[in-house]
Amino acid sequence: MKLVFATNNLNKLAEVQKMLPESIQLLSLKDINCFDEVDETELTLEGNAQLKANYITNKFGYNCFADDTGLEVDSLDGKPGVYSARFAGEPANSEKNMQKLLVDIGNKTNRKAQFRTAVCLNLNEHQYLFEGICKGEILTKKQGEKGFGYDPIFKPDGYTTSFAEMSSEEKNTISHRGIAIQKLVAFLSKYKS
Ligand code: IMP
Repeated sequence: MKLVFATNNLNKLAEVQKMLPESIQLLSLKDINCFDEVDETELTLEGNAQLKANYITNKFGYNCFADDTGLEVDSLDGKPGVYSARFAGEPANSEKNMQKLLVDIGNKTNRKAQFRTAVCLNLNEHQYLFEGICKGEILTKKQGEKGFGYDPIFKPDGYTTSFAEMSSEEKNTISHRGIAIQKLVAFLSKYKS
């Protein structure tokens, strides 16, 4: 079976492909000659994941899955959430996003936060949603150089280091995206059409 992963990130694609049975062949957007930008206009992560997966299935006819991730901070009523990529405005800039988040949290004592990933799968006329959550807290200043986005200011529960101080393998085993993708892979591995 051919299945499109609605991403242009070939590293992500290769990583998920390795976790799937050989009978499932992942295709990137480039593989299907899709160079369209799909604006993430929905108000929820699930809505945006659905929007992207539906765009591909409706326009190109493929089974497809798409993901969307946000950082939800307790004391900011779940912000930046679905607006994580452009929290400090356009164009998206991770440094500015982190600075804004640290300023907005200020010296609040509750620094609890979670990363949440929603994955939407369109498969043979049915739609399935998967969720991955990684709970932790927002540090008072940046720690570490690895990763991307808010990694330097996020420390997962049970760890003493930020995401930006972990190897990608270590991060993948506990991360929101890793967990959501593991659920998707478990589902696809058992799926009988
Ligand atoms: P996307 O849906 O994966 O594109 O994620 C949206 C935004 O959330 C990104 O632009 C990052 O700012 C942030 N983000 C998503 N995943 C992570 C992560 O694993 N670490 C840090 N920031 C992330």
